[in-house]
Amino acid sequence: MKSALLANFSRLFGRPPEIVARAPGRIEFIGNHTDYNGGPVLGVAIDRSVWVALARRDDEQRQFASAQREDVIRLPVGRLEKMSGDASWANYPLGVLAAFPAFGLRVPAGFDYLALSDLPVGAGLSSSAAIELASALAFTAAVGECPSREVLVRAARHAENRFVGVPCGILDQGVSGFGRKDHLVFIDCRGPRFETVPLPAGAHFWVFNTHTHHALVDGLYAARHRECMEAAHALGATLLVDVRPEALATVAPGTLSPVAAKRAQHIVGEISRVSSSVEALRAGDLAAVGRLLTASHRSSQHLFENSTAELDFLVDTLAATPEVHGARLTGGGFGGAVMAMTSEKFDDGAARRVAAAYAQKFGASPDILHLQTGDGAGLV
Ligand code: ADP
Ligand code: MG
Repeated sequence: MKSALLANFSRLFGRPPEIVARAPGRIEFIGNHTDYNGGPVLGVAIDRSVWVALARRDDEQRQFASAQREDVIRLPVGRLEKMSGDASWANYPLGVLAAFPAFGLRVPAGFDYLALSDLPVGAGLSSSAAIELASALAFTAAVGECPSREVLVRAARHAENRFVGVPCGILDQGVSGFGRKDHLVFIDCRGPRFETVPLPAGAHFWVFNTHTHHALVDGLYAARHRECMEAAHALGATLLVDVRPEALATVAPGTLSPVAAKRAQHIVGEISRVSSSVEALRAGDLAAVGRLLTASHRSSQHLFENSTAELDFLVDTLAATPEVHGARLTGGGFGGAVMAMTSEKFDDGAARRVAAAYAQKFGASPDILHLQTGDGAGLV
């Protein structure tokens, strides 16, 4: 990747870059919709990244290019408005520049910028957080600053929430920023507080992206958010993270509507599954971790009701495969992708058989990605 980036940059801008930064994509490992309930989540930084190369200019021009797009976007330094149409990808680096002052960070004046990636876009692997983190690192390096990872992560999230306008939680940027090869990233979303947890040897990750999306997904997200907040308030808490499993089990009849009770059971159960996963990882028990992954999916399927027939089919098929430790929907749900944690015995042939069974039922094949852990964002 790096040599392709250097070659493309020189071809495009007629000189080599001064700075190269890289930030990985991530898998949501376990902790489904726990973030806005103040709970914990576990993610994995993967071995696929967005790379950004940058060289400063003496004039007041900024030029943005991506290997995924044809046109170079040229903007004077003063212009930090939101772009639309084909240029809208530049909202990610522009959003980072716009976020910096709020975090006490300086922005470089003129520069040439090129992004290159081996991370599929829109596959639920958070290419958006990766391009934000890689951009943030390149921009700070260009002004000779070296802020903490936490500041970079928060600035990148600010860019996505406020400038791009996507209300994502801290998982995407947190895992891209704090990821570490052969580790998972544990995030206590309320802090937020970040920690790495070693991954026992021999675990492999597979993602099956169905490319299906519920037409009403934004409205369904908003409904789940509202249902969780209503359940918390009915239980005398601000957020469901403060509701103990015992308290939920003994709640007086009529306190919660049947729907609110199911949503609360999912979140409270999921929060304890994240803690149990950390314990099982520390004990090196991948089989136990796998059971928690599949239990998480069953809870999404039956209690949170954010799964679909497509995702359930993939989880059912994977969970019935001996080399699979566990499988679950990953991301917000209502379509999207399933991830499986497997032993090294699960191979391309096994993955293709799962995809073929899916294609026979649903008429289209899911994309298959075999992923391993990777290091978090850094200058190269
Ligand atoms: P995800 O984060 O799941 O991949 P999003 O819709 O949140 O999906 O973000 C994808 C968007 O991020 C793309 O449509 C594009 O605008 C931007 N993006 C990601 N990677 C690149 C890249 N290498 N070059 C240009 N834009 C990118
Ligand atoms: Mg994204």
